[in-house]
Amino acid sequence: MEKGKEPGSKINNPTWNYTPDLPIKTAPYFNWPPDPKHIIRWLIERWFPITERGLLVCLAIFIWVFAAPALERCKTLEIGWMAEIYFRNFMIMCLVAGGAHLYLYTFSKQQKLLKFDAKDLKKNNSLFSFKNQVWDNMFWSLASGVTVWSMYEIIIMWGFANGYGFMFDFSDNRVWFVALFFLLPFWQAFAFYWIHRALHWPPLYRIAHVVHHRNTNIGPWSGNSMHPIEHVLWLSSVLIHLVIASHPIHVLFFQLSQVISAITNHSGFESIMVRDKNKIAMGDFFHQLHHRYYECNYGSIETHWDKLFGTFHDGTDEGLEITRRRKREMHKRTI
Ligand SMILES: [Zn+2]
Ligand SMILES: [Zn+2]
Repeated sequence: MEKGKEPGSKINNPTWNYTPDLPIKTAPYFNWPPDPKHIIRWLIERWFPITERGLLVCLAIFIWVFAAPALERCKTLEIGWMAEIYFRNFMIMCLVAGGAHLYLYTFSKQQKLLKFDAKDLKKNNSLFSFKNQVWDNMFWSLASGVTVWSMYEIIIMWGFANGYGFMFDFSDNRVWFVALFFLLPFWQAFAFYWIHRALHWPPLYRIAHVVHHRNTNIGPWSGNSMHPIEHVLWLSSVLIHLVIASHPIHVLFFQLSQVISAITNHSGFESIMVRDKNKIAMGDFFHQLHHRYYECNYGSIETHWDKLFGTFHDGTDEGLEITRRRKREMHKRTI
């Protein structure tokens, strides 16, 4: 079998080196009639035994215990604790995005196995800052991404420290404390879809979102490579923590889910192979299609919105034809 191609690659498009089983399946939460077994299986696959979300909860708890400023220090906006947050987030971005990039691209540890796009990341291309896709992506992720991410964390910590919001502890309400980890991804996916659609409004696209869409092909550093306006809008959904009862661990989980999932979703590979066997789920063909064809798949496979509003591209040749037809219609409307 040719490397990178596995059973399930049912597509005649030379753009792709590999595709998952098509058509893409989205979350079954809103299927009709409801299928509780399917929903439970979907949830289990996303949470157990070791999955990205499970690891993010552990990382959020670890950071809160060992790498977060004590809340009493956050009462006043002093440079010390704010710089600590910034430095820690900078390190997380470098370790996760840098580590994934080194493993998958620099050292090419699994060559093209499970890599979606047939082409490599771009070099010597004047579309990108520094004429290099990876450097461009690193610059926007670190200079803008880490700054805005940290800014929101600082605002919420300062708010909690000064009695804004409804902060509570695990011992106050254990059920709500645990339930929030399952509920927050729904809000995150809902907000992402609508903010992303707004970013495709032509004036906002031209000013801001175009920076993220320089990347028709994507790598780990592309996930957070955005214009500051896009970072401010996209990461703003974390402010929900100032209106619902929550704890700083939930805030950390929420932001890590945004930033780290963006890195893994944009990795360009379906999974990381460890010793040619164990897979750690990484990329997201659903979003890979958005980068290739723009006007489709604005949300995520966690939401039903793309299906509902006719913007779903399921990855098949028919899905591509529907997307192209819609793009032609949109183009007609704008000229
Ligand atoms: Zn993207
Ligand atoms: Zn977009």
